[in-house]
Amino acid sequence: MSFVFTPPPVVSVPVVGTTERFPVHRIYCVGRNYEEHAKEMGFTGREPPFFFMKPADAVVVVEAGQTGTIPYPSLTNNLHHEIELVVAIGTGGKNIKAADAHKHIFGYAVGLDMTRRDLQGEMKKQGRPWCIGKAYDHSAPIGPITPAAKAGDVANAELYVQVGGKDRQRSNVSKLIWNVAETIEHLSAAWELQPGDLIYTGTPEGVAAVVSGDTMVGEVRGLGTLTVKVA
Ligand code: MN
Repeated sequence: MSFVFTPPPVVSVPVVGTTERFPVHRIYCVGRNYEEHAKEMGFTGREPPFFFMKPADAVVVVEAGQTGTIPYPSLTNNLHHEIELVVAIGTGGKNIKAADAHKHIFGYAVGLDMTRRDLQGEMKKQGRPWCIGKAYDHSAPIGPITPAAKAGDVANAELYVQVGGKDRQRSNVSKLIWNVAETIEHLSAAWELQPGDLIYTGTPEGVAAVVSGDTMVGEVRGLGTLTVKVA
């Protein structure tokens, strides 16, 4: 087969403990999945889960021990960090029950759902799609994927992000409103999950702005750290 131009490369994320990489299919994100974050965004925190997406090539892969760099994006004056547990799907499926969800999980990673908050807010106000606030280029930094068997007790892992060495967000995955298994159940009722899908599971309270020159250091315990500098 020949193409009218060179196809884009497959986006892939390193996997801890192997030279093989995880090819990315889609990026799903869960909105307002920690109660205290829902409250800080002006909601009660007790609503069914909802989802948005980012394009696969929004991923910014940060290899183990490296510092990733993202450009300060265009059109915004309020770029926010959202530290999140990311679930990597290894086996696809639809209408997956929460009790079976673990069979579909390849592993876990630390991710940042970077957000042009001012643009997202404007779109919300107008009842328009969030894409310009959430799904822009370089909006999905991610660290290496740890296979599920080596990831430890992810459901009770502390997660945090620091900027300039100071805590911005600090919480625990146990505080998810919809846990990973329930999220997979809801998500797979709406879309057929595929191997290579990533799920950014939501962020705890403390979202705030970063500016050019800031360095974010995020961690989900057991999954290593993710360091990203804003150029
Ligand atoms: Mn998020």
